Amino acid sequence: MTGKLYRENQYIKEFEANVISCIPVKGGYETVLDKTAFYPEGGGQPGDRGFIGSSSVTDTVERGEDIIHICKSAVQGKVRCSIDWNFRFLNMQQHTGEHIFSGILHSLTGFDNVGFHMGETDVTVDFNGPVTGEILLQTEKKSNEIIWKNIPVKEIFPSAEELSGYEYRSKKEISGQVRLIDIEGADLCACCGTHTAYTGEVGLIKAVSMINYKQGVRITLKIGARALDDYIIKNENAAEISASLCAKTEEIASAVEKLKEKLSREHLGFTELKKKYFGLLCSELTADYPVVFDDSGSADDAKILADMIAKKYPVGYAFSGNDDDGYKYSAVSAVTDVRETGKKINAALNGRGGGKPEMITGSVKASRVEIESFLKEKVLQG
Ligand SMILES: [Zn+2]
Repeated sequence: MTGKLYRENQYIKEFEANVISCIPVKGGYETVLDKTAFYPEGGGQPGDRGFIGSSSVTDTVERGEDIIHICKSAVQGKVRCSIDWNFRFLNMQQHTGEHIFSGILHSLTGFDNVGFHMGETDVTVDFNGPVTGEILLQTEKKSNEIIWKNIPVKEIFPSAEELSGYEYRSKKEISGQVRLIDIEGADLCACCGTHTAYTGEVGLIKAVSMINYKQGVRITLKIGARALDDYIIKNENAAEISASLCAKTEEIASAVEKLKEKLSREHLGFTELKKKYFGLLCSELTADYPVVFDDSGSADDAKILADMIAKKYPVGYAFSGNDDDGYKYSAVSAVTDVRETGKKINAALNGRGGGKPEMITGSVKASRVEIESFLKEKVLQG
């Protein structure tokens, strides 16, 4: 049975212990110590990382009464151990923050936290009922007030008899001694994880999104150091958008909206102009030479143009591009199979592409002069 130093004091970062066993397994060594401050994965909290002697520890899990440290290399005897404190403290912030937020949302709505995930970048909590934006804001505000009050995060180990007198949240059925985490005014919840000693250490809780999920909602939280990281990224982005749109940071959303409206108006105008331009390009064609060149280099434009021509003549040909980059092309016909013509074009003009009997698309690597003389001599001669 491994002694659990993290239960006595969750702030132990370094300790000495004796190696009880160190067994080689695929990818490392499973090491058991006589006592440990490494927290094993549980209660939604990931296992600790760090060092045992000179070996790094990549994960910690609980198996029966033992705590297994997944080591990179073998260790033995008396060892000096250190846990990755940044990682652990971040996890303590996340866990404590989640208690505060879930407890307050529960007290405001009666809904239960039915899913909890501590991810690499955020925490998600699932509730079994609908939550309004207003309630979400209220929960966030009250949660941060509890943080600023800097009240103690207490542990209670009630007897079975005492336990029946408590009204507490619980994420799953628990057997044996129950450990309640008590945050006055916010939450009372059965939990096996590690928490900060005072709420103030959580720093900040920000709900960054809420989506409908199953019968309720899934809320994404940024807690502690992650809330600051999130603020830094968003602030940088907001500042850049603000500078490029010449708008105050608190007004960038409406500035982007205006820009989108302007773009969509201009796009409409552009589409109208393009239609007129294509009409002009097609107006001077003759049945002997139903071919149009356009310089946009767009496969879509070539298709639209070929289609316009084919409405007046048996076959329409359109090439879009320039001599340096090559041309996108399309041939359209309602009366003849254009696939054979496509093969000829590809073979003669270093091209590729194909399609259906009534429309082919592709590209060629040839100059306009080469394309025109090929079409005149080999395609349109008869
Ligand atoms: Zn907890």
